[in-house]
Amino acid sequence: MRMTDVFGRTLRRAPAGHDPSTSYAVRAALVRFIDDRLLFLPLGLRVANNITEALLQGNETVNHVDGPGDFPIEAWRRLLDDEIQSYRQLPLCLFSRRLERFSDHPRGLASPEWVRGLKWHYAASTEASLSELCERWLQQNEKRLDSLGLPLQRLEWGERSCGWAYLCDFGPDTLLACSSCSYMASHATAHFKRSEFVPEDLQSLEMISTPDADTIESLAALLDVPATKTLKAVFLRSDDGTVVLALIRGDLEISIEKLEDVIGRRGLVPASRAEIEGIGAVPGYASPIGLHVRERPETEGVLVVADLSIEHGFNFASGANKPGFHFSGVNYPRDFEVTTTADIAMPKAGDPCPKCAAPLESRAGIRIGGWEAFGDAFHFSDEGGNLNQGWLGAGTLYLEPILAALIDVYHRDGVATWPGRLAPYDVYLVDLRSPRETNDALEGLQAKGLSVLLDDRDVSPGVKFTDADLIGCLLRITVSKRSLERGGVELVCRAGQTEAIYSITTVAAEAATLKDKFM
Ligand SMILES: [Zn+2]
Repeated sequence: MRMTDVFGRTLRRAPAGHDPSTSYAVRAALVRFIDDRLLFLPLGLRVANNITEALLQGNETVNHVDGPGDFPIEAWRRLLDDEIQSYRQLPLCLFSRRLERFSDHPRGLASPEWVRGLKWHYAASTEASLSELCERWLQQNEKRLDSLGLPLQRLEWGERSCGWAYLCDFGPDTLLACSSCSYMASHATAHFKRSEFVPEDLQSLEMISTPDADTIESLAALLDVPATKTLKAVFLRSDDGTVVLALIRGDLEISIEKLEDVIGRRGLVPASRAEIEGIGAVPGYASPIGLHVRERPETEGVLVVADLSIEHGFNFASGANKPGFHFSGVNYPRDFEVTTTADIAMPKAGDPCPKCAAPLESRAGIRIGGWEAFGDAFHFSDEGGNLNQGWLGAGTLYLEPILAALIDVYHRDGVATWPGRLAPYDVYLVDLRSPRETNDALEGLQAKGLSVLLDDRDVSPGVKFTDADLIGCLLRITVSKRSLERGGVELVCRAGQTEAIYSITTVAAEAATLKDKFM
């Protein structure tokens, strides 16, 4: 390929407003953002394809399937329901390489609104069998990502999801990591060890007048108690219209992600005043006391999910569902019912690690892939001919975030040092006004099967060398009057940091040897 034919130009200066990896990718003509849409240019597409190839190397033979980019999990369920008749077909792996979640406004290569993914769907007959497949998938891909030189941390995303993050300052994902053990989780879903509490005698339930105390702060101030002695009721509505009462100790906040995991519904937003009143609660003075609470998630009544913290304390102050009134001496389970208790609290830096109790620390990272499991995913006939519920798991590698992380590993100050197999071309061939000899060298390199980017532009040597550094091919070969006087062409190998003169007839063989060595 000739530089004069390559679409997309390199830039001298990094564009403003991008993270360092995205800035490099724009400078090196790998990608462009046009109207906030991410577009891969030819050089970037070659790198992306090299990454994909490396990630698929040694992959077990799987069934390739493909569909529209927005093929949702429900569609997979229907497909599996239709196609899987018997337990004999399980476990099953389906692979697709496709646009996974298209974002109109990616904030950069590392942004979580990734657009290209490699995705494996696994169908299994039991949760245990799916867990084994998950662990195998994680280990296989850890090996592949490790072979690209990417240092990774495993982390929990949610109840049934996990994955990896590449830790770096500009990473868009906030993570909580244990300062002592290997525990790490996404900020919103991290667990933390609950504090011990001192038992107290249970007070009797008493309705008290609390005018203008419709927030935890005002209630705690009025009663002169810490927020830990109050209960907070938060009302949310899911995308299917279900109103949820989330109950938590007054000093803590609700994690929407955890709550969505618990109730199995997405798109939670604050409920309206009318919706809160519609279930019989009074905004600002609400609690489950006196409400018709669902016994189980599928029964009638108000869906109440309480954080574990309601069990970690006594004699709370809590809303009376009457304007201007609260109850004091509220104790669970004596005074009210809930549909379920779970960890739905938003963790924060400094909270104790759930495994070893050392403080959790806030870290920034890039999520580069992970695994999600779905129960009750499809139906199949078991050995006895009975209809059983199957499990579906999906493992995804996110291409753009992986590229962002790899750029952070292999790029510094305008100089890229891609490993041979990721670089856009094997050789960057610089022609400094010696076209005939350059052409001879080019033919020799191509005959050895090397991919060559020939810089044949009518620009200064400085510009060519700057671009050679920026694009970062493993080998740089320069053909100039001076090199020819010294007996041939100059060969620079970035990985080996070697530099030597070779004759035009021998340079191709040497280049091929170096490529094999540093693949
Ligand atoms: Zn720990």
